[in-house]
Amino acid sequence: MIELSLTEEQQEIQALARRFAREVIRPAEIALDKMADPETVFDSPIFRKTLKKAYTLGFHKMGIREDLGGLGLDPVTTGLVWEELAVGGVGITATLLAAPVAPLFLSVLASGRTDLIDRFVRPYCEDTGASRISAWGSSEPNIGSDGSNYHDPGVHHETKARKEGTQWVIDGAKSSFVSNGGIADFFLLFCCVDPSKGIPGSGVFLVPYGEGVTRGRALDKIGMRALNQAELAFDRVCIPEDYMIMPPGDSYPMMHNAIKTVGNIGVGYLAVGLLRAAYEEALSYAKERVQWGRPIFEHEAVAFRLFEAFQAIEAARGLLWKASWTLANKFLGDFRLSAAARVFATNMAMKHTVEMVQVLGGYGISKEFTLEKYMRDAKLLQIMDATNEIIALKGAALL
Ligand SMILES: Cc1cc2nc3c(=O)[nH]c(=O)nc-3n(C[C@H](O)[C@H](O)[C@H](O)COP(=O)(O)OP(=O)(O)OC[C@H]3O[C@@H](n4cnc5c(N)ncnc54)[C@H](O)[C@@H]3O)c2cc1C
Repeated sequence: MIELSLTEEQQEIQALARRFAREVIRPAEIALDKMADPETVFDSPIFRKTLKKAYTLGFHKMGIREDLGGLGLDPVTTGLVWEELAVGGVGITATLLAAPVAPLFLSVLASGRTDLIDRFVRPYCEDTGASRISAWGSSEPNIGSDGSNYHDPGVHHETKARKEGTQWVIDGAKSSFVSNGGIADFFLLFCCVDPSKGIPGSGVFLVPYGEGVTRGRALDKIGMRALNQAELAFDRVCIPEDYMIMPPGDSYPMMHNAIKTVGNIGVGYLAVGLLRAAYEEALSYAKERVQWGRPIFEHEAVAFRLFEAFQAIEAARGLLWKASWTLANKFLGDFRLSAAARVFATNMAMKHTVEMVQVLGGYGISKEFTLEKYMRDAKLLQIMDATNEIIALKGAALL
């Protein structure tokens, strides 16, 4: 039996997210998008206040277990919320999607470690000031798609973790793409321990912001300007030996795929929300704008464009729901489904945001409207966390 109706609890949180997205995220995100210097975005009270409100409502801790202070929501419910938030803006929503990466990882992989849970997970969940933010870093100047290249022993992270007595010493740099890199106060870092094993020679380390860690300037980019991305440098950063959360070795591909399965689904929902925002604005414009004696919606070429966007939204959401349901009901979910859902949703968002700009004609490219912003934002979703080509390559390998 397939049940597609939402529970009362799901409807409530979906409605809360919808209101928050429209009343708080959207105006903030539009204002932040117009700021020319990316550094001013993340220093601005608009960004901080928006994030604080989101933390107060618990949107930063949805997937974390209740007994650790999270909301304990299942992947389908979490997905409903991501979609709604993304309708307001994908930059702020991506900030919230990335912020719990370290606490989530710890709550799954180091759940027995009460010291780490008490120091990093509970305070994160209790935070209503948006002062605790995490980030993950794999990408480096020479390691982009190669982060998923497990097979070439000549390819490894250049950020290194070396054992010295009872500590790990970390040296190296992560590239300017790290989401929340410039504003996070703790990091999950992929660092090479054994270069002879290639990428699987990396372990995953928990690194608090502190002595030896330098956060770079915010990346200046075409879209998702409300998502901070910045490089990170590590100069003899010492952490306790048991801050290695995941050792290097043969389990690396499985762990990496598990992270990507969750990440793919999150990025997919961002794409559906973004496309919905573009579609809804274009549809209402098309019903108002009169040319050739009638609303342009009554010209079939325009109506078909809108109907195709509607199809894409419904199809992408359906696939995402299946991927989310599978993640909730099967250990580690199904990478192929999550990959299919993410690649499809993000490609649809790119394709149809361009089409929605066309519905507005000249007004579509004007910064007085937000359609051009959606089109710029959509491009980043096809690259985020790994490019669609690499996700498809890995999905295809599992067919
Ligand atoms: C919004 C956003 C958020 C991000 N957040 C993070 C983050 O939080 N942490 C982090 O570590 N990184 C993050 N990244 C970085 C992201 O993971 C990389 O940009 C991505 O993995 C691609 O690496 P690259 O940019 O170096 O491109 P390259 O790897 O240099 O790829 C360039 C082109 O070659 C193609 N290509 C490469 N290899 C192959 C192949 N084998 N087959 C087919 N095509 C191939 C790619 O698809 C792409 O089109 C983020 C990126 C974006 C855009």
